Amino acid sequence: PRTPLIAGNWKMNLDHLQAVAFVQKLHWTLKDAKHEDGSVEVAVFPPFTDLRTVQTLLDADKIPFALGAQDISTHDSGAYTGEVSGAFLAKLDNRYVIIGHSERREYHHEGDEIVAAKVQAALKHGLVPVICVGESADDLEKFGASAVPVGQLKAALEGVKADADIVVAYEPVWAIGSGQAATPEQAQDVCAKLRDVIAEKLGEDAAARTRVLYGGSVKAANIASFMREPDVDGALVGGASLVVDEFAAIIRYQK
Ligand code: 13P
Repeated sequence: PRTPLIAGNWKMNLDHLQAVAFVQKLHWTLKDAKHEDGSVEVAVFPPFTDLRTVQTLLDADKIPFALGAQDISTHDSGAYTGEVSGAFLAKLDNRYVIIGHSERREYHHEGDEIVAAKVQAALKHGLVPVICVGESADDLEKFGASAVPVGQLKAALEGVKADADIVVAYEPVWAIGSGQAATPEQAQDVCAKLRDVIAEKLGEDAAARTRVLYGGSVKAANIASFMREPDVDGALVGGASLVVDEFAAIIRYQK
């Protein structure tokens, strides 16, 4: 019953001109494919400076991709130089916003409290937070795979209501950009534990409804193996989401 979600996190790649060319090409590549019939949801997460342009293109050409931002301010408006509020993102038809990506946790020192505040900011403005959690190589050695992501998700769901629309992404830090993806069994194990956290914090209905994604070196050659796992409902794709044919092949995976 959960619609698979294939999400492309562009990170700091593709300016607004490159974004237009990319989205048009991806749309044409997918046009006759069976996955554009609604059986898989596709979302792209461009840099802030591209959002207006991509929104206009999706709208004008009736391209069925969802739009998302890569970050959100904890504030609604005001004297916060450089920040972008959820209200602004919602006005640009963003459906999603990535929160707690390991690159923000690491390079911008975003801890569990900021992540939880950003989740609240997203929900307040009608955006679906894509809550990213995952363990580093060090964590993996010390605590095993699931302890850190489980703790991060519990913190992020503090104060979230049972009927909230959220997405969770399990992204082991050691698998991001390394070419070394988790095994499908590893991903399944942690994604199942994250679903248990959703059940514990938000209830069984939320756990059954919420999509839990895997991210970290996902490519066309391994997507099907992840999608065969019962608790993996899609992928958050970095590098491979920047190559039209590769991303199209991921979207068109066959179980
Ligand atoms: P890669 O797919 O490049 O490993 O990146 C994953 C990621 O961080 C998506 O948010």
